[in-house]
Amino acid sequence: MTAVLLDGKRLAQTMQAEVAADAAACERATGVRPGLAAVLVGDNPQSRSYVTSKRKACERAGINSWLHELPQAATQAELLALVARLNADPAVHGILVQLPLPPQIDEAAVVDAVDPLKDVDGFGPVSLGLLAAGRPRFLACTPYGVQQLLVRNNIPLAGAHVVVVGRSNIVGRPLSLILSQKGVDATVTLCHSRSRGVAGLTKAADVVVLAIGRLNYLTADMVRPGAAVVDVGMNRTPDGRWAGDADFEGVRQVAGAITPVPGGVGPMTITMLLHNTVRAARLQHAAAGGKDTAP
Ligand code: NAP
Repeated sequence: MTAVLLDGKRLAQTMQAEVAADAAACERATGVRPGLAAVLVGDNPQSRSYVTSKRKACERAGINSWLHELPQAATQAELLALVARLNADPAVHGILVQLPLPPQIDEAAVVDAVDPLKDVDGFGPVSLGLLAAGRPRFLACTPYGVQQLLVRNNIPLAGAHVVVVGRSNIVGRPLSLILSQKGVDATVTLCHSRSRGVAGLTKAADVVVLAIGRLNYLTADMVRPGAAVVDVGMNRTPDGRWAGDADFEGVRQVAGAITPVPGGVGPMTITMLLHNTVRAARLQHAAAGGKDTAP
């Protein structure tokens, strides 16, 4: 068997066109053009490249975008003051503070400072708490993108056994909550570095999601024939290319479906950020008592 490719690049194009239509509809109905403020601290080239891609995608979708840069030596107080200004700016509906932050800054304090109605990354405690309580508002973009990749490729989730490897607050943990929600109805096993018998669990799974950051972690013998494999991992190979956490060439011979890296989850992450920004614009408009003439 050779696995079907779950093409995130193509799906992201389709969904970004949908978001663009939704952004235009939002503007027509409310008079508000959605806007995203990106904050970049320091000179990490990877972070700069992520922020640039996100801003370009905003432009294409008719979403305003602004870039606020602080130097590598910026203090936590300076960053918190900037976040407070953006929280108070009515033209800004979403705030994206690109992580990682320099070591002198407490990431949790910054994530906590973003207005929950502008938390389009979905990392904040209110977003995560609402999701855990079964009342989701902003889903974290990468796990939301994984869910969309599965649903829109008709991978059955209701009653399916999904094994998620990796429990970070930005990928694995929110994904386990999203997929086990009522209405999605997967049975989720969340694994981490202290889990025993991970190979046995992945081998029994209908869907395996990898979010670890370890090249060639998942090998073909760890996958049930026909299972779907979604690879969130982004690792540099010794020859400088990007690759995921699965041994792609081996696993694709066994799996029924698999995401490529790059071109799988990455483009979906950006797409869900745009989606969340439009949703944030509508929510803030409604919270301010504004009218929405949408049917
Ligand atoms: P992270 O915060 O470093 O978390 C890694 C997780 O993997 C932790 O929960 C860790 O367990 C677990 N882990 C590590 N080694 C393991 C092992 N041998 N067996 C089982 N679990 C193990 O990473 P992250 O931020 O979630 O990112 C994970 C990967 O996804 C990275 O490669 C990152 O670059 C990529 N990523 C991609 C996107 C995208 O848009 N494509 C977005 C975000 C992240 P413990 O909790 O026990 O330490």
